[in-house]
Amino acid sequence: MKHGSPPIEPGGAHQTRVVTLTRRKVLSDKAFEVELTRPPSFDFIPGQNIRFLYGALERYYSIISGPQEQKIALLIRHVADGAFTSILSSSAIGARFSITGPHGYFIFRPSPRPPVFVATGTGAAPFAAMCRAGISGFTLLHGVSLPEDLYYASLFRRSASRYVPCISQPTPENHLPAGAFQGTVTEYLRRELPRIKSDFYLCGRTEMVQEATLLIDDYFSDSRVYSEVFF
Ligand SMILES: Cc1cc2nc3c(=O)[nH]c(=O)nc-3n(C[C@H](O)[C@H](O)[C@H](O)COP(=O)(O)OP(=O)(O)OC[C@H]3O[C@@H](n4cnc5c(N)ncnc54)[C@H](O)[C@@H]3O)c2cc1C
Repeated sequence: MKHGSPPIEPGGAHQTRVVTLTRRKVLSDKAFEVELTRPPSFDFIPGQNIRFLYGALERYYSIISGPQEQKIALLIRHVADGAFTSILSSSAIGARFSITGPHGYFIFRPSPRPPVFVATGTGAAPFAAMCRAGISGFTLLHGVSLPEDLYYASLFRRSASRYVPCISQPTPENHLPAGAFQGTVTEYLRRELPRIKSDFYLCGRTEMVQEATLLIDDYFSDSRVYSEVFF
């Protein structure tokens, strides 16, 4: 089982590179995307992340673009008074940043077991990159508070064999998207997901990753769990 602490790799991933902010796009009250120039020979595997170095700050963000794309795109959650997210949300287009990477091992590992991706909020980011690289046929549970926080729903619907938006705040039936579950991803895992041994990929909040890992141990014996903790 792999857990989500910032990983260390030898060699090129620790080389500092300068990237330029080329675009910012608001997705909802809670999140925005940024696009950065992609340095020459910056190769990555979908699911990997980059680290920003900004004064004394170091912050990691999963790449959402596919490996064939010209830019590095990121999905960022607005954090109230967040030291670095407030810089990313307000910097002028053309601002330059130092990064290292790619980092991380939260990558897709094909196996005979069916893959089940589980995300909360912006934890969907690595799965967007995987879809853009052509990975398909997975189950995806995406946990959000409200339907408007379901980033990349059409991308996920195209690639997943089963896409289940899990909406935690009470929402009128006629506002729920097709196939949605009213509740959290862990409630869905406990109550709805067929008990088949699977490869689980968990990404997002610590509480979800911990709770889901325990549930998988209890209900999905002989499964594998890979995880990436954002916060
Ligand atoms: C491997 C890895 C990949 C990551 N990928 C992404 C990603 O793709 N997108 C993304 O948005 N974040 C991602 N993160 C989280 C990111 O690195 C920052 O921690 C986050 O953006 C907050 O940074 P900040 O400096 O703005 O907030 P800080 O100044 O560090 O925190 C300010 C306050 O907000 C709280 N806080 C911090 N993060 C969150 C959060 N996510 N939600 C609610 N409260 C929070 C802190 O406890 C603190 O009280 C990732 C983290 C890791 C380790």
